[in-house]
Amino acid sequence: MGHISQRCEAIVLQHTNYGESDMILTLFTAEYGLLKGFAKAARKSRKRFGAVLDPFTQAIFQWKRGRGAFLLLQDAELLNSRFGLRGDLQRLALASYGVELVSLLLEEGEPSQLIYELLCSFLDSLDQGGDDLSARLLFELRLVYLLGYMPHLLHCSDCLKIFADEAIRFDANRGGSLCLDCAGLTGVSIDLGTVGSLARTLKITHRQFEGFSFSPKTLQQGNLILTQVLQQILPREPKSLKFLSQL
Ligand SMILES: [Zn+2]
Repeated sequence: MGHISQRCEAIVLQHTNYGESDMILTLFTAEYGLLKGFAKAARKSRKRFGAVLDPFTQAIFQWKRGRGAFLLLQDAELLNSRFGLRGDLQRLALASYGVELVSLLLEEGEPSQLIYELLCSFLDSLDQGGDDLSARLLFELRLVYLLGYMPHLLHCSDCLKIFADEAIRFDANRGGSLCLDCAGLTGVSIDLGTVGSLARTLKITHRQFEGFSFSPKTLQQGNLILTQVLQQILPREPKSLKFLSQL
């Protein structure tokens, strides 16, 4: 393993200064999922890596296997720096949130082609100035779906009755949507139109963000639903969420 050098496209999720001039990076790749990399003298020789090691940047990295799980980064070839994100605090905060969700929910070394594509498309949408609140809901929904944590939407998760023009509630702890008979007082009140809209969204490719503009009600109720679902599966509350809610 020691001498083989590898090349792979990745997004920089995070970088941390180490020692006087080195950097530790968390990279996300389609082939290997999350990877930890070590960039020696990255802060001294900007020529070698330039801005390629900044978060949200997409590049082709070349590395050698180091000791343990760390990769020793040799070279990087910039593909997309997503400069548009840096001029807007709300978009930057959303991008940080998306990246943190991926870091918290994925395992190191686990191939993740679809989630890689999803994250690229989400960051591109924010970079290009798309509807950022719709993009957030789309990203959360698709991430939960691709990870296999999708709750029941269009039928009662207790009695399995398919809803027909009726009031419903949602409780992620009980599997998702509930009819009023089953729900009792648990969960939150949700419009059938909202879960219908979320279910329809999942039929469209995970790469498409352009053209989506959810109504304020769908955004608000969708946020209630996804917040519950994410709370159930996240190991801790994302730090970026606090910042995002302060904006
Ligand atoms: Zn029921």
